[in-house]
Formats: sequence, C-alpha cells, structure tokens
Amino acid sequence: MARPLTADIDLNALRHNYQLACELAPDSRSVAVLKADAYGHGAVVCARTLEDLAPAFAVAAIEEAVVLREAGIKVPIVLLEGIFSADELETVDALGLSMAIHSDWQLQAVQDFSPRKPIPVWLKVDSGMHRLGFHPEHAEQAWKRLQSLPDKVTDVHLMSHFATADMTDDRYFLSQFNLLQELAERLDAPTCLANSPTVLAHSEAHGAWNRPGVMLYGSDPLELSSDTSRRLQPVMSLRSEIIAVRELGKGEPVGYGGRYVTQGPARIGVVACGYGDGYDRHAVDGTPVLVDGRRTAIAGKVSMDMLTVDLSDLPEADIGSEVVLWGKSRHGAVLSVDEVATYCDTISYTLLTGVLPRVPRRYR
Ligand SMILES: *Cc1c(COP(=O)(O)O)cnc(C)c1O
Repeated sequence: MARPLTADIDLNALRHNYQLACELAPDSRSVAVLKADAYGHGAVVCARTLEDLAPAFAVAAIEEAVVLREAGIKVPIVLLEGIFSADELETVDALGLSMAIHSDWQLQAVQDFSPRKPIPVWLKVDSGMHRLGFHPEHAEQAWKRLQSLPDKVTDVHLMSHFATADMTDDRYFLSQFNLLQELAERLDAPTCLANSPTVLAHSEAHGAWNRPGVMLYGSDPLELSSDTSRRLQPVMSLRSEIIAVRELGKGEPVGYGGRYVTQGPARIGVVACGYGDGYDRHAVDGTPVLVDGRRTAIAGKVSMDMLTVDLSDLPEADIGSEVVLWGKSRHGAVLSVDEVATYCDTISYTLLTGVLPRVPRRYR
C-alpha cells in the first residue's frame, strides 16, 4: 500500500518523439535536451533510453553533465550555457564535454586553458532574444579568435536562440533568422539554432545540429498546433486516485477559502495530489482532469497534498478510481499537459519540471 500518486514515464513515447524530431530534420543531427532532470522525467533514465539514437545530449550546467557521466553515459554532452566559472574547464576537459561560449570572459578562459583534447564549441550569438550571446557585430571577431585556437577548441558551430519560434506571427522570428543566415554565410559556419518550435515549424532554420527539448517529452510548444506536432505522444502521465467522496447539497463551499460553491446537489472527489507534489496551485475551477478516462474538472483550490474534483456527472466514480492530472489514462483517453497549463496561466515546461521528488517516477 502506498499513496497512489505517481509520475508514469512512457519511454517508448520518448523514443517516438525523438525519432519524430529526427524525421523532421533529416539533414540535422538532433541533440536531445536533458536539462532540469530531463524536464522532470529523470535525466539518467531518459539518457539511457536515447543513448543508442542521439549523437549528443544537452544540459544547462556542468553539475547535470557530471550526473550523466557518473551514471556511465558516454554520449557527447553539450553545456548550453557553457561554464559558469573558469575552474569548470578542468571538468569539461576531464569528462569530454562540449560547451557554448556566450561571453568574452568564457572565450578568454578557454584561451588561457590547455585542454588535453580541443573542446567542441558552440559560439552563441544574440540575434534578438537579448539573453545570452555575443552581439552580432562582435560575432565575427569572436569566431575568428576561436578559429585561431585549434589546440583549444574544435568543431565550432554558430548557435543562437529564437524568442518567438512558437508564435504564428513569424515577423520577429524571420528578423532573427535572416540575421543569422547572413552571418553563417559570411563566416561559412555550421549552425545550431533550432529549439522544439523551430524543429516543428521552421525547417529553414534547421542546422547542422538542432536542439529539441520539450517536444521530446510530448508537449506541443506551438501556439497553433500542426498535423506534425499532433503526432507527439505524452511521455509523463501524472496519475493518482480518488481517496474520498463527499455528497454535498446546493450552496456548499469546497476547500480553502470556499472558492468553489456547489450549484446544486454535488459529488466531490478528493484526489491525492497537491501543490506539495508540484501540481500548480494556480489551477482554476474548471481545470480538466480525467477520472476513469472521462473528463471532469477541478472544483476548489488546490491544497498541499490534495485537490478536489467534480464527480456529479460520474456516478460510477468512487474511491480508488483512476485520476489523470495530465497524460494518458489506462482507459485510453489523453489529457495534454499543454491544455492543463493554459488553465494554470503557465506553460507545460513549468508543470513538467515542477513535479517534485516526493512523486515517485515509474518507468515503462
Ligand atoms: C532549453 C533549451 C533548448 C530546448 O528548448 P525547447 O523549447 O524545450 O525545445 C534549446 N536551446 C537552449 C539554449 C535551451 O536552453
């Protein structure tokens, strides 16, 4: 016996989604982004699942790469933000990592370091996201400096990140892309530009490498989903059970603050899942859930360990009924994490990475 809440991870779906990313970009190599513990799915297991398919993995920081290496993962690993301090270069070298270089100080640190083997490098240019990267006007100089360090760096690629690749209005995307294309042609540089929405919707920006992340986990990042993005399969199913049922009359408040008030005689189910598990407390009344594979909705504020759902139209639902907060029901129905996110005024990324360690991951 145990608390019924689990995050069930479908590793076949992960492989399917990765293969879809590859199929969409047959001339690119796709690095599987495994940062933030593989978006909450468990980086080591996901790495083992994709090891035979993916030519490289990507993480945000060296600590995440160390975890993968210590688990015996031998595939090349890219640090998407490079090093955070110069002393990390020892580990980069020792573990055979690749890295982004987005700042002058990183470039200088590499120049001052003597690796046993030249480090594969992605030179990051700020083409309009205005977060990390060299100003386009300084990119050529940085590129040439890297080319002059063949003992220190190798396999240099041009990297950049799109701010709006998920949006149907592609004007800003195109301004970034045109700048990058011009730069890549001038430097004769191979590129790595594409995140998930770019992989799905902008084949013109596919490069020597692509960097799909959230799509591998079955979330569709596009503002307007496409026939292609609809082929993604959910990887995580956050699954629990009804642990109690309340029969209430009209006008009864449910949960903290009495936010939800019954409109008539109602059956309310109590579910073992709350914000202490990472379920978003911003979920409004009406946020969909699946009970025994049938859609119903949250009724009342999410508590730390529990939440409440309306069972009034589901008379067969009872203690022990399956509740899917997002993902696939055993009864076949699917509730996308993207849809749940809209009811929480957030995006799938925060829901998936937000599932807390208290929730056991079960792999299939
Ligand atoms: C996280 C990340 C990605 C993956 O983005 P998705 O939208 O999840 O596909 C790609 N590139 C960089 C630099 C990132 O930090």
